[in-house]
Amino acid sequence: MLESLNGLPGFDAGTFRNIHGAGTQVNSIRINPEKNPGTNTTNQSLFQIDSGYWQLNSSPVQWNQYGRYLDKRPSYTLDPLLHAGAYYVQEASSMFIAFAVNQLLNEKENLKALDLCAAPGGKTTLLASLPQFNLVLANEVIASRVNILYENLVKWGSPHVFISRNDPAAFGSLTGYFDFMLIDAPCSGSGLFRRDPEAIKEWSPQQVNYCAARQQRILEDALPALKTGGLLFYSTCSYSKEENEDIVDWLCEHHQYTSLRLKIPSEWGIAESVSPETGAFGYRFYPDKIKGEGLFLACLQKKNEVYSPGWKSRPVEKADRTLYPILQPWLRESGYSFLKREENVIVLPSELEEEQAVLAANVQLRKSGTLAGTVIRNELIPEHELALSLMIAEKIPVLEVDLENAIRFLRKEILASDGLQKGWTLVSFAGLNLGWIKVLSGRINNYYPANWRITMSK
Ligand code: SAM
Repeated sequence: MLESLNGLPGFDAGTFRNIHGAGTQVNSIRINPEKNPGTNTTNQSLFQIDSGYWQLNSSPVQWNQYGRYLDKRPSYTLDPLLHAGAYYVQEASSMFIAFAVNQLLNEKENLKALDLCAAPGGKTTLLASLPQFNLVLANEVIASRVNILYENLVKWGSPHVFISRNDPAAFGSLTGYFDFMLIDAPCSGSGLFRRDPEAIKEWSPQQVNYCAARQQRILEDALPALKTGGLLFYSTCSYSKEENEDIVDWLCEHHQYTSLRLKIPSEWGIAESVSPETGAFGYRFYPDKIKGEGLFLACLQKKNEVYSPGWKSRPVEKADRTLYPILQPWLRESGYSFLKREENVIVLPSELEEEQAVLAANVQLRKSGTLAGTVIRNELIPEHELALSLMIAEKIPVLEVDLENAIRFLRKEILASDGLQKGWTLVSFAGLNLGWIKVLSGRINNYYPANWRITMSK
C-alpha cells in the first residue's frame, strides 16, 4: 500500500509509517449546538470525571467550532450525556465537512440535503446542525445498519431529519430534487488503519479496484437526484488515488461536474491535491500531518443538465383536528403539522409537509418527522422520539436525576417514586432529557426503549 501511495500530494512515507507505529489514538467529539448541558448543575457525568468538563477543558478542533479533542477515551456508554444527544463521538477530520459547507454555501438557506451513505450517522448529525439545510435525508442501504443510524439521529433530536433505506438507484426518480448531496462512499478504509490495525490485512490492490468500481456505480445511480447548480461532496476514508482523484476525474469528464476550490489556512496541514486528468481539487488528511484520521474530500458543482423536474407525491393524512389541543401542549412552539401514521401521530415542521409527501412517494422512509405518540381517551401516550426531540415543550414535568440514577434509568431499572406527581414525566440529566417514566401510585414505569438500554457493567 505504501508503495502505491508514493508521489501522492502530501504523502510522506517516513512520517506516515512512524505515526502508524507510534500507537497514539486521537479521541474527539462534536457537541450538539442545540443541546448544551447546564453548566450550573452539580451533576457529574463520567465524562466530566474522566477528562474534565468537556465543554470547558478540552482542546478545540481547528476546523470545527463544535469539535473537541479529549485527553483520553472515556467510557462513552456510561455517560448519560451521550444518550441525551449532547455530543457525537466523531473522528476529527470528518468534521471538516462543516467548514467546506460554510465556505461554499455561505448565507444560503432552505436547502435540501441528501446524505446517501449515512450510517452510523456522524456526518448526518453534522449536516443537521448547519443552518443551510432545512431538510436532511439520511439514507442507508444496508438494513442492519439502519437501526444505529435511527438511534443516533433520534438522540440528536433535529426535527428536519428524515431516514430512508434505499439502494442508491431509488434516487433516480427524484431527478433534480436535492440542492446538496454528500456521498461518503464505502471504501477500502486505509484512512482508519491507525485505529484498527487488524483491518490492514484486508487491504489489497484488487479491493481498491473493487471499491472504485462500486463508488462509480453508487455515484452514477444517485447523481440524477442533484439539481443543476447543486453541490456534490464526495468523500472516502481511503488514501488510494483510484478511489479519490480518479473518481473525481471521471465525474468531471463524464458527468458534467466542475471542481470547487476551498480556501484553507496552510497551518492546518491539509494537503490539496489536483487530479491528473481534469485538474480537479481534492483535500487529503493524513494522520502524520493533522490531528485526525485519513480522509479525502472533493467538492463539485453540477453543471447544466437537461431534465424536467416533477416528482411523484403522496400526501400523508393529517391527524384529526380534535387532537391538536391534546398535542400542542407537548411542543415548544406552534407551527407544526400533525400527521397520522396508523395509530400514531407524527409532528413535522409545517414547511416540510410537501417534502414529506414527495419523499414518501419515492423512497422507503424509516423516519419522517418525529413520532409523538398515540392518543388514547384524550391522553397522549408519548414516544421516545418526542422526549429527545428539540421540539419538546419546556413545561412538561421533569425529574432531574444525578449520575447514579441516570445510569439506572438508562439500564431500564426502577427509580424511587417518592414525592412525584402522577403522570408522564421526563427524566433529565444536566438539563437534558433522557426519556420517559410514568409515575403511578406507589411506583414508576420506566419507558426507556428496551433495545437501547445500557447492558455494560462498569
Ligand atoms: N457517512 C457515515 C458517517 O459519517 O457516519 C459513514 C458511511 S460509511 C463510510 C459508508 C456507508 O455506505 C456504510 O454505512 C455502508 O453500509 C454503506 N454502503 C455499503 N455499500 C453500499 C452501496 N452499494 N450503496 C450505498 N451505500 C453503501
